[in-house]
Amino acid sequence: MKSTKENQCKDKNCPIHGELKTRGRTFTGTVVSAKAHKTIVVEWGRTRLIPKYERYEKRKTKVMAHKPECMNIKETDIVKIQECRPLSKAKKFVVIEKIIEKTKEITKEKESKKEIKVTKNKKNEKTSSTKKKSTKK
Ligand SMILES: [Zn+2]
Repeated sequence: MKSTKENQCKDKNCPIHGELKTRGRTFTGTVVSAKAHKTIVVEWGRTRLIPKYERYEKRKTKVMAHKPECMNIKETDIVKIQECRPLSKAKKFVVIEKIIEKTKEITKEKESKKEIKVTKNKKNEKTSSTKKKSTKK
């Protein structure tokens, strides 16, 4: 997996050239978003059995993964990601391999049935004095 242009990749969190160790689960998924600088969003489907109806329900898993500098990944590509140490709040996966580079546009199958989450009754807590200001870095 080592490329000849090793000096170009200065990414510490590159699994090939950097110091990042990967361990844990490996997944293969489609890149949904590659807009962020070093982050991509990978999505893959899975099925879940509903015992009452004896049918399977299609579900999707979406995770954020770190995109190393040396990899040129675009949306709709198929990549292999592996678990690693938490790189940020939401990132604990890293791209280890690009499997297929797709040129076709994503078929717009946005049938994402969002689950209706039961909103928990908020307890009346005294939050008037301790309002946290959102600090964006
Ligand atoms: Zn690299």
